[in-house]
Amino acid sequence: MPVDPICKKIVPDSTEYVSDYGGKSYYFCSPECKNKFDTLEKSVIRLKRNLSEKEKISFGKLRKDIIKPGICTLCGACAASCEYITIEDEEPKLVGPCKACGVCYYQCPRTITTEEGLIGNLRYAYAARSALPELKGQDGGVVTSLLLYLLDEGLIDGAVVTRKSREEPWKPVPIVAKTAEEILESGGSIYSHSMTLEALMSAIKQGMHSIAFVGTSCNIDAVTKMQKSSHGLLHLFMRAKVLKLGLFCMDTFSQEGIKTVLGSKGLKMEDIEAMKIRKGKFEVGLKSGEEYSFELSDFDEYRSSSCKFCTDLTSENSDISFGGVGSPQGWTTVLTRSASGYELFNEAVDSGYIEARPLEDREMERVLNLAKMKKVQMYALHMRKKV
Ligand SMILES: Cc1cc2nc3c(=O)[nH]c(=O)nc-3n(C[C@H](O)[C@H](O)[C@H](O)COP(=O)(O)OP(=O)(O)OC[C@H]3O[C@@H](n4cnc5c(N)ncnc54)[C@H](O)[C@@H]3O)c2cc1C
Ligand code: SF4
Ligand code: SF4
Ligand code: SF4
Repeated sequence: MPVDPICKKIVPDSTEYVSDYGGKSYYFCSPECKNKFDTLEKSVIRLKRNLSEKEKISFGKLRKDIIKPGICTLCGACAASCEYITIEDEEPKLVGPCKACGVCYYQCPRTITTEEGLIGNLRYAYAARSALPELKGQDGGVVTSLLLYLLDEGLIDGAVVTRKSREEPWKPVPIVAKTAEEILESGGSIYSHSMTLEALMSAIKQGMHSIAFVGTSCNIDAVTKMQKSSHGLLHLFMRAKVLKLGLFCMDTFSQEGIKTVLGSKGLKMEDIEAMKIRKGKFEVGLKSGEEYSFELSDFDEYRSSSCKFCTDLTSENSDISFGGVGSPQGWTTVLTRSASGYELFNEAVDSGYIEARPLEDREMERVLNLAKMKKVQMYALHMRKKV
């Protein structure tokens, strides 16, 4: 007898609630379970699909991604799995006609071959935007809307967010927001490091027990260490519950660097309304309504050195992750990961704070491509040093 994949009840195969997906039939106990599957569960099945279905992989790819950059461990798994590969002069070599079956690539311990390997574990992926009138955010304003929901419902005592300094325009200032006004003021992205952990400690010292924390992947990793490592402060003696809201993050730049590059076109920081990195461009909108576009490469020398070694685009250790890549303009890509992250996000949707739909395959593809770029950037750096 089939099992309903949503509620896990056994159902008769004569049930009228059936969905066909990926050449397989799924059986449900009720229209609710079928509906949930049709809208959401399919995306999980897609995520678990092996990347090999999408691209033909030959020995050339193993050579390009692993052998040439010098990260082959000489474990011999590729040679063991294919008669046309042999290890010679401490390097795997092709000695026969490669059929591009991809088997060697999928055995190699150094390749990343699953979606999970690129963006971590998740429950459901959405494209979402704020349903609150006139709320402006960096993308869909979803982080801000979720924080407002959590505060309105009394689910958090406060939120660690980053706002712009009032004295030095665009300097990031981490704060503990306790009011809707403070949360609204923090909307938008500042592309420089923010010392969010200081604000988290301040929130805990103020006696807050339930805190939403917004930060980049490295910020989220710091909180995770505090929660999970044997010497972690949150693990040892601070019992606050922290909901980790992670931002996708590819780079940050020094404040001085941003000021210098924008200054090259005569722009002043105090005149800037918004900054956005999109498709290799650094876009700037002025308060006057004028728009400017810079090549992202203009900022290369001001890129934080730590970011060159960072491999986590999507804040894999967060409860929920948010990014611009994938979704259309004006929407935020949302990856719900933990059970609480999933529940709280959906409660905010059900309560009318956020509008959400499942992320489409082609949208997820864009997230995966960028995540892959970030995972292999260290290899690329190494290659550049070699030539
Ligand atoms: C440094 C940085 C780099 C990013 N790089 C990418 C990228 O390469 N690709 C991508 O898809 N998305 C990236 N993002 C995420 C993206 O810019 C949006 O933050 C995300 O899509 C959420 O949009 P939203 O409209 O829902 O958020 P909003 O509702 O606008 O809320 C934004 C939240 O971000 C917080 N915040 C702003 N600046 C910082 C900061 N420096 N450090 C910590 N928290 C901050 C604010 O406190 C606010 O709570 C980056 C964000 C940052 C801060
Ligand atoms: S395992 Fe497949 S892809 Fe790899 S070398 Fe052999 S034939 Fe080519
Ligand atoms: S499987 Fe990967 S790491 Fe092992 S020998 Fe082959 S290329 Fe090197
Ligand atoms: S790229 Fe990585 S190290 Fe740099 S700010 Fe973003 S998450 Fe942190």
